[in-house]
Formats: sequence, C-alpha cells, structure tokens
Amino acid sequence: MRKKTTVAPYYCHPAEPKQAKTRPDAFCLTLAPTPIYTKSIGEAMKIGIISDTHDNLPTITAATGRFTQCGVEVILHAGDFVAPFALRRLLQGRLPVYAIFGNCDGERVGLAKLLPDLADGPRRIELGGKKICLVHDIKRLPHKEFEAADIVVCGHTHEPKVEREEGRLVVNPGEAAGWLTGRCTVAILDTDAMAADIETI
Ligand SMILES: [Zn+2]
Repeated sequence: MRKKTTVAPYYCHPAEPKQAKTRPDAFCLTLAPTPIYTKSIGEAMKIGIISDTHDNLPTITAATGRFTQCGVEVILHAGDFVAPFALRRLLQGRLPVYAIFGNCDGERVGLAKLLPDLADGPRRIELGGKKICLVHDIKRLPHKEFEAADIVVCGHTHEPKVEREEGRLVVNPGEAAGWLTGRCTVAILDTDAMAADIETI
C-alpha cells in the first residue's frame, strides 16, 4: 500500500476562482500561514511539463492532447507563453495549470487575466507529495530555493534535460514551440518514480 503522509503543504498557491471547480481537492491549498491537510498530498501523480511555447498554437494543442492521453493530472508551464492567446490555448486542454512568467512574456496583464496566480518564479508548489520549484531560468535560482525542492522544473534554454543534481531531479522539457531547435518537446513527470520522460510532440 502506498504510504500517505500528512505533512503540511510546503508550497502553497493563491486560490484561483476561475479554475477552482475543475481542480481536485489536492490543489485547493490556500495561502500561508494556515497549514492545510490535503488528502492526496502523498499520492503519486503524473505531471505534464511544458515550457517556451512561444505562441505556437498547434504544438500547444498537441501537448495537451498528449498529456491527456498519458493520464496527466496537472500541467506546469515554466514560462514564455509570449501572447495571452497561447495561454488560452493551453487552458483549453482542461487541465489545471500552474505557471510562471518567462523573460519573453511581455503582455503580463493579459496573461494574468487568464491565470490570476501567474507570477515571476521561482514558484513553490507541492504536488504528489513532492516539493517542486518552478523557475524559468535555473541559473537565476537562489541555491537555497534549489536545496528546498525535491524537483526543479525550468525552461528558458529550449534544450530538453532530465538530470539529477545534488539529489534533486531537474527537468527542463525543452521548447514546445520548436522555433529554435526544430524539436517540439514536453516532459511527463511521475512523482512516485521521481523520473521524467521527454516526449517529442
Ligand atoms: Zn523561450
């Protein structure tokens, strides 16, 4: 039997009224300081990781289709949607999305209208019992943030990477857009196995 833990959420996020109804209980964390027990906090979860979508709508649709096929429960986007319409397309995949701004996200107001908790990274999220740090450029991540996480999800380089660094799993899904490398990639993370696969879409 899988072990369930009842730790207080290490990473919280503000409520997102527009999406709240579609989210499982595990995501209904509220702002600190009140520690909230969430029933599936220790349960394994498949997470779809995407970054650097750079307005490429067909590949965003391909990505959400693949995520749904693979049983993904939540999407993490590591920045650089660029235009709000790219984020809208991602949300049309009907999976909960947690995201941060990248350096090319100029239309911040428009993006934040679609996803009110969108903010600069690093962003701390706890999913599937794992502490996940979401950051656009890992080179800008303070080491204490890196140390506090089990998994670091990043983007920015447009190069896919799954590595273990100092006992942490580091996942860069590469670029979903494919503009720079010609490869449109995402990653699928299994929190139980603490492993991620890069998928070409
Ligand atoms: Zn980019």
